[in-house]
Amino acid sequence: MQDLAARIANLNESATIKMAQMTRELKSQGRDIVDLSLGEPDFETPVHIREAAKKAIDDGFTHYTPVAGYLDVRQAISDKFLRENNLKYAPDQIVISTGAKQSIINAVLCLVNPGDEVILPTPFWVSYSAMIRLAEGVIREITTTVEADFKISPEQLEAAITPKTKLIMFSSPCNPTGSVYNHAELAALADIIARHPHVYVISDEIYEHINFSDKHVSLASFEHVADRVITVNGLSKAFAMTGWRLGFIGAPAWIAKACDKMQGQYTSATCSITQRAAIAALNGGLETVDEMKAAFLRRKQLVFGLLKEIEGIKLNDPQGAFYFFPDMRNYFGRSFAGEVIRNADDLALFLLYHGNISVVSGSAFGDANCIRLSYATSDEKLKEAMRRLKSALALLQ
Ligand code: PMP
Ligand code: GLU
Repeated sequence: MQDLAARIANLNESATIKMAQMTRELKSQGRDIVDLSLGEPDFETPVHIREAAKKAIDDGFTHYTPVAGYLDVRQAISDKFLRENNLKYAPDQIVISTGAKQSIINAVLCLVNPGDEVILPTPFWVSYSAMIRLAEGVIREITTTVEADFKISPEQLEAAITPKTKLIMFSSPCNPTGSVYNHAELAALADIIARHPHVYVISDEIYEHINFSDKHVSLASFEHVADRVITVNGLSKAFAMTGWRLGFIGAPAWIAKACDKMQGQYTSATCSITQRAAIAALNGGLETVDEMKAAFLRRKQLVFGLLKEIEGIKLNDPQGAFYFFPDMRNYFGRSFAGEVIRNADDLALFLLYHGNISVVSGSAFGDANCIRLSYATSDEKLKEAMRRLKSALALLQ
């Protein structure tokens, strides 16, 4: 008998993780799949960070740490915020968690009461909507289009805010669209937020360093909204440390304190060894980060050129993160071997089973016309993936 609580019974499985799992299973059966599903850098963690972790084990950093993280790691994060983002967060405004994913759910659960409205620019990262539902918040999507580079306008934001709005889930660079808001666009959004003092913002800046346009701008650097912004970041993307599990927030002290309390009951601190390695990552300069970014840019240009050669695909030119989010609706209604492709879910499965390429359906990101392709893999695999995509799509009549 199954008697699960409604909160988990009604929760969607993470589509990114599910697709990655399906791909792993097919590969283990001997299928040759090019995997563009999971958003994770294919690089190894830089050597100086790995060495710091080994030393931490030998030096005996094997015990529980303070829930919010060691003070010197929070100091390193405080220094990073000031140096790179012009943000002034003291160590007591910083909470380190088991990945940015936990940083975000901590903040959502600490702020959102059942029935509170949460504004979600759409497309959004899969887990945002699930997290709002877990907090029993009410999702208010702001729909964007590929023509507008999937960005919301200040007018759309203004129109979405009601007296019940508690939170905005914002991200730039954005997963899945790769959109990056420039300084003027962010300033205009900040001006709207400033006029509504009951509204808070989670600004997820995990892709800060994978930004091909201007220098990254943090929303909290606009002083008139800084006391209502929770800045989220982490090591997963910039330092190729997805498995190490370290994310963090900088936030008003009362919010940081609440997240510390929440985490103290849920998970306690993240891994002591990862935290010691974080100091090496944060204080070690951005040379390896810049090398990875250069590789991502080269791959982006490669894939952009190849995608544009395929008939019927509409796409923006992403300026950050490592995803393409092409609009595929021209292929809907076509069929292969009697199977009609009705939407992006059907298309993603068709590409997996008949094209041997793994992508994620846009429906999980709030846009069922699109699919998401991660280009965080080698040039050779990307070329092969685009060749397979093109020939699989050509099968659809
Ligand atoms: N935010 C966004 C937009 C993401 O794409 C991800 C997933 N990589 C995360 C947060 C969570 O990252 P992590 O938990 O690995 O730090
Ligand atoms: N964030 C990555 C992605 O979007 C990793 C998977 C996940 O955490 O959902 O693919």
